[in-house]
Amino acid sequence: MTKTVVILGGSFGGLHVAHALLKKQHKDVKVILVSKNSHFYWNLASVRAIIPGLIKDEDIFKPLESALSRYPSTSYELLIGTATAADFDAKTVDVTVSTDNSRRTLTYDHLVLATGSRCPEPTSPWKASGSYEEVLEHLHQTAKKAKAAKHIVVGGAGGTGVEVAGELAYEWGKTKEIILLSADDKVLGGDVTASAAANELKKLNVSIKYGARVDSTSTNSESGKTEVKLANGEVIATDLYLSTIGVVPNTEYVPAKYLAGKDNYRTVVVDEYLRVKETKDVWACGDVVSKPRAGFFITQKQAVSVAKNIEAALAGKEPAVAKGPPVDIFACAVGRGRGAGRMGSVKLPSFAVWLAKGRTLAIQMVPGYIDGSVA
Ligand SMILES: Cc1cc2nc3c(=O)[nH]c(=O)nc-3n(C[C@H](O)[C@H](O)[C@H](O)COP(=O)(O)OP(=O)(O)OC[C@H]3O[C@@H](n4cnc5c(N)ncnc54)[C@H](O)[C@@H]3O)c2cc1C
Repeated sequence: MTKTVVILGGSFGGLHVAHALLKKQHKDVKVILVSKNSHFYWNLASVRAIIPGLIKDEDIFKPLESALSRYPSTSYELLIGTATAADFDAKTVDVTVSTDNSRRTLTYDHLVLATGSRCPEPTSPWKASGSYEEVLEHLHQTAKKAKAAKHIVVGGAGGTGVEVAGELAYEWGKTKEIILLSADDKVLGGDVTASAAANELKKLNVSIKYGARVDSTSTNSESGKTEVKLANGEVIATDLYLSTIGVVPNTEYVPAKYLAGKDNYRTVVVDEYLRVKETKDVWACGDVVSKPRAGFFITQKQAVSVAKNIEAALAGKEPAVAKGPPVDIFACAVGRGRGAGRMGSVKLPSFAVWLAKGRTLAIQMVPGYIDGSVA
């Protein structure tokens, strides 16, 4: 009898698992990929795509259908929609279908949670937070506003904030004022790469403000400027404020007993096999898990393990302990010429980070996610 594997989320984790299962051409397995976004989005390049004219939309957004249509049409279904509820006892998932807002209840034999995370600011283009059309519009709007602005404030000095400030300053550091707000006394949360990244940003004329925790933002109706209020009471008026502060795991449809964390930061709890705790047939990978941290290399490795463990379960075998990357690599592009990074705790030279990441923001990896060679 045909077994159904429902995968929620069509990004690094979900698409990888879909390819891994479909490539094997199991005769008795059907994959249903459910995704809010109809396109695979190479969000790593979003930081540069906000500079007009540098990156073509079609190089970083690829239709999910173009990835799956290489497999027999009876082996998969692509459903563009949003998972709104799941019942792990009844083995069902409710999906609101994007085309007509109708509701479909899917029944599964195995379920993969790969719905990742979103930006807290709905108009931020750094992640596939909305539909394809929405994300594209947010990216274009941000690029238009960045071009017009003379003064830009970037809130949050994590990896995304450092990369956004670096890209803006590489293009406009001599003609626009670029300010990066860091809540801590170091960028990148004090990672060993923090001082190297800060030095590279300074070379590009970025002003870094430390101890600058953003409290709120508002628009001044007279000047039209955005007023960024800091926790210490200071107010910075700017033409454009870009928030890069935090991400929110997309786990609202998961029953609370399978989640850890609080408020709007709730991640899925998994065991060493990446199986959701207290379930037999629900698996999770990527930013919904965010362990050991949220990262695409980690997501990729987890997707490999999830696919293998589902195949093992379908064959009546025991799962294997999930493997992570052999070493934790962290790389931060700082503009189009430099970078800061580390392999484990060993710092990498700026040139090496540029070569490995900053030169192309790894866009050359996109075709592998479409033709399935990544899996
Ligand atoms: C600017 C930036 C640069 C980065 N650079 C790096 C880097 O250099 N190295 C690195 O390791 N990591 C990097 N990351 C982190 C990386 O982007 C994430 O770890 C990765 O995106 C996680 O992939 P994912 O498959 O878990 O989910 P996501 O990429 O978050 O995608 C989730 C998918 O699920 C869909 N979805 C959401 N909710 C639902 C729902 N309810 N129902 C159905 N579908 C849903 C979304 O539309 C989306 O398609 C970067 C992040 C940012 C923001």
